[in-house]
Amino acid sequence: MSQAEISAASNFIRTLIKQQREAGQQQKVVTRFPPEPNGYLHVGHAKSICLNFGIAEEFGGDCHLRFDDTNPEKESQVFIDAIQEDIRWLGFEWAGDVRFASNYFDQLYDWALHLIKAGKAYVCELDAEQMREYRGTLTEPGKNSPYRERSVEENLAEFEKMRAGDYPNGAKVLRAKIDMAAPNINLRDPILYRIRHQHHHQTGDRWCIYPSYDFTHGQSDAIEGITHSLCTLEFEDHRPLYEWFLENLPVPCKPVQTEFARLNLNYTVTSKRKLKLLVDEGIVDGWDDPRMPTISGMRRRGFTPKSIRDFCDLVGVNRAGGVVDINMLYFALRNDLEHNARRGMVVLNPLKIVITNWEEGREEILTSPSHPARDDLGERQLPFTRELFIDRNDFMEEPPKKFFRLAPGKEVRLRNAWVIRCDEVIKDDQGEIIELRCSYDPDTLGKNPEGRKVKGVVHWVSADKGVPAEVRLYDNLFQVETPDADKDKDFLEHLNPDSLSRVDAICEPSLAQAGAEDHFQFERVGYFCADRHDHQPENGKLVFNRTVSLKDSWAKMQKKQG
Ligand code: ATP
Ligand code: MG
Repeated sequence: MSQAEISAASNFIRTLIKQQREAGQQQKVVTRFPPEPNGYLHVGHAKSICLNFGIAEEFGGDCHLRFDDTNPEKESQVFIDAIQEDIRWLGFEWAGDVRFASNYFDQLYDWALHLIKAGKAYVCELDAEQMREYRGTLTEPGKNSPYRERSVEENLAEFEKMRAGDYPNGAKVLRAKIDMAAPNINLRDPILYRIRHQHHHQTGDRWCIYPSYDFTHGQSDAIEGITHSLCTLEFEDHRPLYEWFLENLPVPCKPVQTEFARLNLNYTVTSKRKLKLLVDEGIVDGWDDPRMPTISGMRRRGFTPKSIRDFCDLVGVNRAGGVVDINMLYFALRNDLEHNARRGMVVLNPLKIVITNWEEGREEILTSPSHPARDDLGERQLPFTRELFIDRNDFMEEPPKKFFRLAPGKEVRLRNAWVIRCDEVIKDDQGEIIELRCSYDPDTLGKNPEGRKVKGVVHWVSADKGVPAEVRLYDNLFQVETPDADKDKDFLEHLNPDSLSRVDAICEPSLAQAGAEDHFQFERVGYFCADRHDHQPENGKLVFNRTVSLKDSWAKMQKKQG
């Protein structure tokens, strides 16, 4: 699939902005990506990042990075750092400094006073349970709080005491005075401030009251001059409240909120709470475990920034939602790696072969391009020796009819080298095959043997010159398509027990030069990436992660449907 085809997917927000431009509304586009620093970013966030930064790029505008940090007990600097690293790795840069909603705490406090003075906010002392009772339900209106008619003076004094730390957590809240009978529950006197005696990673111990998400988000957008506040559909019901604050406060501008569907991927969970559980329970090896759908996990697995951006383009942006097939993600990944990953030969499950008509001690250096279509990637050297390894799966003692690889008496081509024939099978006392004795045909380098059909090609590595590596074979973390669909069932019951296996592999010697995070196609096997942390060639330790297999079910399916 070409880049143009990938980018052609629908994105109604882009269409909307084009229409606004054509209608002569020539404003500069300013968007923002507003993560809560309470976890690592995941593939769903990538969609929001590509949308917000992509729109700003396309229309010559700005995209801000703003940490939505109103919930200090769950937040930390570790997450703040990781989020910035992930966004940059994806290839985006925010306009100006990193911003924090907490930068606006003073302004928000002043705006709370503004509402109190206008008779539009009050300090309420209902406890959590009473609050629920008074709120009503979707079908029944709520009731007014007994504290609703407090005087402005009393509210100002009470709110000041809340701020000064005179009350314990939960004793009182500041609420907007809107309408307890509003059909939209978000408008039933929503909470603006809570008491939380809690140290904050940015503001230290300056505050013991913290604004709610709703009281913070729209006003932060307004302070920053955001023009298009793009968020996921669960905030649609909050939009009337978002607009109520902008109407009732002296804000410098009025951003417009537009909602789009969240990204849901099959075989994947993207709730931060669930991802955190996987980390905290030690089910995975940290937030960047290669099986995690976090951006840093995908990076470590071997995804490229481009493959993730292309995937987001392919998915498009709409309001319909639905579940995206994970194979579409793998398709975007293979599409990029096919063009950019160097080739290498690696035997995952080694079986020794001895070329009996090759002299002991003789070594020939064969060469092969590092990539079949990319001369710029140069070539690699493949030492050929008397003893080699091939993959155990490429030999069968009693092959079925369509088996074109090696079998007793049969011929096969060693990739980038000669044709060999298997003459003898050597077994140990238990009957296990430990070695094959083969002979090579010296006339077959780079050409087919005359009059003989050799269909199969297998990869190989010199037994003397090959280098050992640990190869980690990753698969989906969950066995079922919708691991968290069943509310009554623990999503952990659907874990795939075979999501990780390790093998001791033998690599062609050029791979000893691989740097951490280098991508490869191990010929005939799949795409791999040198592990970001554990691959240490300088210490003689090679570790490769399987990124994705070679076969591409999504592209095939598209063709069939096409
Ligand atoms: P979670 O529910 O996993 O905790 P969140 O929405 O609370 O995620 P935030 O850090 O608040 O996480 O998200 C930052 C931005 O990313 C928000 O604008 C949010 O709408 C968007 N976002 C989060 N998850 C997805 C998703 N699956 N698809 C698209 N956008 C998402
Ligand atoms: Mg959120």
